[in-house]
Amino acid sequence: MDSDQWKLASLQYLEHLGKLGIRHLPKPSAKLQDMLVEWKSVDPVIKPAVASKAKPPSTPVTSAPPAKIPMGPPVESPWLTPAKNPQERTAALSELKVKVEACRLCHELACQRKQTVFGVGPVTTRFVMVGEAPGAEEDRIGDPFVGPAGQLLDKILIATGIPRDQVYILNTIKCRPPGNRVPSDSESENCRPFLEAQLEILQPDYIVCWGAVAVRAILGTTEPIGRLRGRFHWYKKTKVLVTYHPSYLLRAPEAKKLTWEDMKTLMRELGTLKP
Ligand code: SF4
Repeated sequence: MDSDQWKLASLQYLEHLGKLGIRHLPKPSAKLQDMLVEWKSVDPVIKPAVASKAKPPSTPVTSAPPAKIPMGPPVESPWLTPAKNPQERTAALSELKVKVEACRLCHELACQRKQTVFGVGPVTTRFVMVGEAPGAEEDRIGDPFVGPAGQLLDKILIATGIPRDQVYILNTIKCRPPGNRVPSDSESENCRPFLEAQLEILQPDYIVCWGAVAVRAILGTTEPIGRLRGRFHWYKKTKVLVTYHPSYLLRAPEAKKLTWEDMKTLMRELGTLKP
């Protein structure tokens, strides 16, 4: 608003006050009266000083449809097998798990366990990792290899290039021995049918035995790991590799290089070992 507009606005205000009977304000001069008449004849609509040069688009802007990504055949994981019957396997394992949970063959273990530890992994895997028995963390959580030994196993699997979530991990014994003691022969014998049933359902191409308890249950031998490691053995139609248990590796770190050699044997077999 310029100065003249302000003056006219003031005059309008004074006129309005006059109509209300407010007389003590000074009467506008003749010149201001003329300006008031002039102001009232002007179109009061204020127009923009400069018209916008922007033109509306002639056609509405619409977002382009997302480009279609060509879908090829699904990528097959080298760690999984295209099993014909995953639902049947899942059902069979669930049924077996119920039996394990109800088992009390080993009185001492059954009395002291928080829960049984059945195993975890995809039912279509080609690889089964067999450990010894649940520790305190496994007993608490209900999954195998979740304590410190499990963390070391994770590192070994990562170094080997095997995704943990694509292998089935289980223990020879499904209940925690008190104080993490080594399971007795009778406990291993009691639990072996469950292990065999799991392997029968999973039908893996490879088993890795982690430690002497697994070796005894799978290969039926008491030969020391030092004499069995470094080559493949057979469990029915499945290739078996033997190495030290991660708990032992935590106690004897100098043996880690031997387990790494065993992992390289597996990688060589799979063709994944880089020269
Ligand atoms: S360790 Fe195996 S056989 Fe023994 S009570 Fe547990 S589930 Fe049964």
